Amino acid sequence: MTREEIREAARELEGQSAGEILTWAATQFAPRVTFATGFGMEGCAIIDLVARLELPIDLFTLDTGLLFPETYDLWRRLEDKYHVTIRAVRPRETVDEQTISEGPALWGSDPDRCCDLRKTQPLRGTLRDFDAWISAIRRDQTPDRADSPVVGWDGKFGLIKVNPLVRWTFEDVRTRIADNDVPYNPLHDQGYPSIGCWPCTTAVIAGEDLRAGRWRGREKTECGLHLRPPVQS
Ligand code: SF4
Repeated sequence: MTREEIREAARELEGQSAGEILTWAATQFAPRVTFATGFGMEGCAIIDLVARLELPIDLFTLDTGLLFPETYDLWRRLEDKYHVTIRAVRPRETVDEQTISEGPALWGSDPDRCCDLRKTQPLRGTLRDFDAWISAIRRDQTPDRADSPVVGWDGKFGLIKVNPLVRWTFEDVRTRIADNDVPYNPLHDQGYPSIGCWPCTTAVIAGEDLRAGRWRGREKTECGLHLRPPVQS
């Protein structure tokens, strides 16, 4: 697609449902389209849609080796319920190997490097095999995501990025999960609205931002995967 065609698609898809946007992505790009899930509620809702609509969209997660036990359990529950395979994309080094090469608890001393090694580099590697990737970001999650288009050119990773949930609110996500009995992480009911690796995730208290528990006490608010909205020109 040319940049003008991407812009036109974004305009046309802006008012469409998440299912329609996913169907468009599958029609346009399959089999070279993939969905990267971090197993948040949004990701679970997308997996539910992909499975119900029987869309030929590849599914994967970045398995840092540092996910909560509840997240690993959710991974298996989603695969069992929807009869899908969610591929594991892993870093070059295990956590133990990283401790030897980089020192212990890199997430504490240099979380940006830790995220680069355990998330960004593996993501870049797997996205080379695709023409488009789908993300579960919403515009109201962070200021960086506020102007994300439904579809755009992701200059950071060099492929098209499709964001079917950008117009959804957190309440929309909860409603979709509840109405369709979608499996989700039980930690969400224990004060964790946003869940990543266990060393960098804490619960939030009433009134805090939904992502306040991620990298608490640091300037860092993103792992870097979605920091730059797709560039369309
Ligand atoms: Fe490392 Fe934390 Fe990033 Fe996970 S979220 S890759 S533990 S810095």
